[in-house]
Amino acid sequence: MFSEKLLTWYDKAQRKLPWRQEIKNPYQTWLSEVMLQQTTVATVIPRFHAFIKKWPTLQDLASVSLDEVLTEWQGLGYYSRARNLHRCAQALAQKFPSTEEELIKLPGIGPYTAAAIASIAFDQKAAAVDGNVVRVLARYFTINATNPVEEVTEKLKTLLPNKRCGDFTQALMELGALVCRPKNPFCPSCPLQGNCQAYISGKVENFPLKLPKQKIPTRYATAFILRREDGAILLRKRPPKGLLGGMMEVPTTPWEEKKKEEKKQGPIVHHTFTHFKLEVAIHHLSEISEFEGIWVAPQDLKNYALPTVMKKILKAGLKF
Ligand code: SF4
Repeated sequence: MFSEKLLTWYDKAQRKLPWRQEIKNPYQTWLSEVMLQQTTVATVIPRFHAFIKKWPTLQDLASVSLDEVLTEWQGLGYYSRARNLHRCAQALAQKFPSTEEELIKLPGIGPYTAAAIASIAFDQKAAAVDGNVVRVLARYFTINATNPVEEVTEKLKTLLPNKRCGDFTQALMELGALVCRPKNPFCPSCPLQGNCQAYISGKVENFPLKLPKQKIPTRYATAFILRREDGAILLRKRPPKGLLGGMMEVPTTPWEEKKKEEKKQGPIVHHTFTHFKLEVAIHHLSEISEFEGIWVAPQDLKNYALPTVMKKILKAGLKF
């Protein structure tokens, strides 16, 4: 049977990850699931440890300010995740609901995360479909839809076991990460190979369907490094909503699709977001300007929630 084979393999092959424990902890499951969206396991492990050390419980996280959470999140990117974590912790304060229906009502928890928490932390029969699960099941059932999530979810529901549902979910994800990898899957050592349609037909590389990558546009801006005589740098806070909401930044012009002619030559910084690339020209302003914000000594910059793009701008700007 699918689940028996998979669970037997998982019991032997699973990685020891800090959020996989004998005692189920919904807070840690939730945190790990949110951190792992768009971020690799290797990057997440030390950050997960640091986060849990600082805020061991849901109540600890709910009691601190958003600025503190954003500062801890620095470098992980996709900061809306941190904002939603904080909002969600405050909304819950005491404990997690255990069903998909209740979980999905919480800020920042979509169908995947709701199913993952319900399944992993509460052992419920919930179908959590992430990229790894899509790949394994699209191959196993030779699903070649342009958007296979719906079909994969339906198939997955038919495979869920009555016991060890959380382990089953993690096992399927683990198989996708370790064996049924995007390139060069290890089919000969896969517990599912006997019934895997893609393997049997010798067409593993054809599934799931690969869509051509879309070209992303470039936006342009000028960033202003303002320094006071004592060396302090002007930072301001971005609006609470939208890209990098609530994070700190050096003042910039609007990020526009048309490039402006630069009169003065300064360093150029490039950064890639999910949907666009950003090219920033850096200028120094020493005189009093119209910008408002707070003055921060260089040695204190680490205490502020600065996204990676701003760190790059400061690094390049403070050098020249
Ligand atoms: Fe993936 Fe190969 Fe296993 Fe099929 S046999 S599930 S393609 S690793």
